[in-house]
Amino acid sequence: MTFPAIAVKNLVKKFGDTTVLQNIDLEIPQGQVSCLIGPSGSGKSTLLRCMAFLEEATSGTITVNGEILGFTENTKGLRERVAPAANRAIRAQVGMVFQQFNLWPHMTALGNVSEALKTVRKMSRKDAEERAMAQLVKVGLEARAGHYPSQLSGGQQQRVAIARALALKPKIMLFDEPTSSLDPELTGEVLNVMRDLATEGMTMVVVSHEIGFAATVGQQIAFLDHGKIVFTGPPKEVFRKPRNARLEQFLDTYL
Ligand code: ADP
Ligand code: MG
Repeated sequence: MTFPAIAVKNLVKKFGDTTVLQNIDLEIPQGQVSCLIGPSGSGKSTLLRCMAFLEEATSGTITVNGEILGFTENTKGLRERVAPAANRAIRAQVGMVFQQFNLWPHMTALGNVSEALKTVRKMSRKDAEERAMAQLVKVGLEARAGHYPSQLSGGQQQRVAIARALALKPKIMLFDEPTSSLDPELTGEVLNVMRDLATEGMTMVVVSHEIGFAATVGQQIAFLDHGKIVFTGPPKEVFRKPRNARLEQFLDTYL
């Protein structure tokens, strides 16, 4: 039986009295790039954070490769927490890259990529550094392995952050506006790394205002507005003839 990589069902997320995500249903197909677009404040980051279980959904369920993440609803409709060990194993399938690279300033690129392998995955220093180096090669930064974040450009720092996520061997990669804090001339190198990853068949969910990337690399586009999925479809449907007024208005701002 094959499952979607991620299935979000009837997801609601509230912060206090404010409903930020309303009854979200979304399937992330295996081995494809799904792009999430929408205006600022529409809930894109919150949805990604729920998928990575960095944020707990208020209700609804998220399954990752068929396994329920965080909470499940029992037959009485009550939420029950998934066992912590199972939850950790499910979360480990999901890697995430943020707008702010969040690198440790006191560690080299190699240190940043190998740290979690040593401390979380309990790998030996040698094995961790070998795997970290292989990931730095993959993002084209083997020559910068010994550099500290302050000695790297924003684009290089983001590539280190991608290598760090990949080193944990996730099955799904979530990207939250990975190029939004970069100077325009540095976005290309990061998008190229993501494009390569897509070509290798990585399942990806990308929040981005890079409409060109979404149109050429994305296989599914979901448009989020005021906490609701307004539209889901292949790029050619979204970009050829947006029939939804809000989507049209959004695209006018970014195209
Ligand atoms: P986007 O990523 O699309 O810009 P967000 O998911 O960051 O949107 O935010 C959606 C809404 O949720 C916004 O109104 C934001 O102010 C609110 N929000 C996000 N995080 C929190 C939080 N931790 N506490 C309260 N409100 C939040
Ligand atoms: Mg955001």
